[in-house]
Amino acid sequence: MKLVLASNNAHKLEEIRHILSTLGMEVIPQKELGVFVEPEENGTTFEENSYIKAKAVMDACGLPTIADDSGLMVDALGGEPGVYSARYGGEAYPTDKDRMYYLLSRMEGVEEEKRGAKFVTVITMLLPDGRKVVAKGECPGRILTAPQGDNGFGYDPVFYYPEAGCSFAGMSGEEKNRISHRARALQNFAEQIRKEKEL
Ligand code: IMP
Repeated sequence: MKLVLASNNAHKLEEIRHILSTLGMEVIPQKELGVFVEPEENGTTFEENSYIKAKAVMDACGLPTIADDSGLMVDALGGEPGVYSARYGGEAYPTDKDRMYYLLSRMEGVEEEKRGAKFVTVITMLLPDGRKVVAKGECPGRILTAPQGDNGFGYDPVFYYPEAGCSFAGMSGEEKNRISHRARALQNFAEQIRKEKEL
């Protein structure tokens, strides 16, 4: 089965391809089909945003389409930055690094036991006949008081993952890809597909 990926992110393509190839699914990036739509992600949940992306691309190409949406949810901030992770704090914080330090400033004075957080990914697959598969993955951790580690991107340096004893930025890409929110959502997705008799 051919599945279009509603994203032009090369890392996502590689990760999703790797896991879904075990299910005999061939993942094709949208641009390979000449689809360049980039809908406004104006949903208020990861579910809504992954649906918006999958729907726009499926409508443009008429093929089964998969999309994902991710972000960081911090307990002490009532779930912020959530769906606003990529634009947290607005135009005053234009880079990943700016947003990471903004998050640290918002967490100033928050005690250790109240620094819980999780990364979340939701994957939505839409089929032209109207069927939909939604899969979620979460990775729990804590927000550090200062960045640690040089790998990764986004909020990785301030996200401490207790099972590894370091931040996401202290793990190799391979280690992180085994346990990340995206990996967990993809595994959940793969399990649901295995259970479906016919797609
Ligand atoms: P996206 O939906 O996968 O593009 O993720 C949206 C935003 O969430 C990114 O721009 C990052 O700020 C944040 N984010 C998502 N996944 C990760 C991660 O694995 N590490 C660090 N930040 C992430």
